[in-house]
Amino acid sequence: MEIRPGIHQIPGLRISNAYLLEDADSLSLIDAGLPWNRGRILRYIESIGRNPRELCRILLTHSHPDHTGPLPDLCRISGASVSVHPDDTRGRAGNERRWLHYSGQIPLPSWNVPLFRRIYYDDTLQDGESLPVRGGLRVVHTPGHTPGSVCFHLETEGVLFTGDMLLSNGSDLRRPMFFPGTNFQDYRASVERLSRISFETACVGHGRPLMTGGTERLQQMLDHYDWLTPRWRSIRAWVGWRKE
Ligand SMILES: [Zn+2]
Ligand SMILES: [Zn+2]
Repeated sequence: MEIRPGIHQIPGLRISNAYLLEDADSLSLIDAGLPWNRGRILRYIESIGRNPRELCRILLTHSHPDHTGPLPDLCRISGASVSVHPDDTRGRAGNERRWLHYSGQIPLPSWNVPLFRRIYYDDTLQDGESLPVRGGLRVVHTPGHTPGSVCFHLETEGVLFTGDMLLSNGSDLRRPMFFPGTNFQDYRASVERLSRISFETACVGHGRPLMTGGTERLQQMLDHYDWLTPRWRSIRAWVGWRKE
C-alpha cells in the first residue's frame, strides 16, 4: 500500500508494521515485523516491479522481536545490511560481533526458533545521522520504549517513522504500553523532542499511519495526555464512586 509516492506500508502484515522506501537504485526497509513475514515482504517488493536483491538496508526502530522477526532470511535472500542503535544491542567483552538485544530480555543462548534466534547486525545508527535514503533520512534517538529506540525523519517529505515510540489508530497519536525496560522519564523527554520536529505523516509501529497533522496531533498528545498511568485515574474514579 503506497502511503506517498515511493513510500509503502507492506500490506497484509499482522500486529506490527514494516515500511518500504524506494530510491531509483535501491530499496530500504524500516522494521520487518514478525518472523513469518518474509514471504509477504518479498512478494510485495516484486508486486511493485522491483527486485528483492535491490533491498540494500534494513533500518530498525528498536530491537523488539515483533519488529525484527524475518531478518536472517531477508538478509540472506536480499543481501541487505541491518542497522540499529547501539543501545539496543548486546555482546560479549572481547567479542567483535554484537547482536540485537532488548531490555528485559533474559540473556539466553541463541535458539534456532522464531523470536528466540540471535540476530546479528551490520551497522549502528547515531543520533542526527543522515542516511542516504530519498535524499536524506535523519536518525532521531528517542529512548524510552527501549534505550536504543530511534525514529526516522524524512524531512523533505514530512514523514516520521516512529516505531513503537508513537502508535496511532489513523486519527490520533498515543503512547505504547509500558514494557520491562521502558523508562518513563526518557520517554516523556523523547516525546517533547519529537514535538519540536515538523512532520505531517506518522508511520507508526502498530496500528494505522496518521496521514496528516502529525505535529499538531503530537502537541495535543503532550497537552492532554494523562501522563499518570490511566490505571491511577481509574482507581481514583472507582474510589470516588464507592464513596457516593
Ligand atoms: Zn517495541
Ligand atoms: Zn512493537
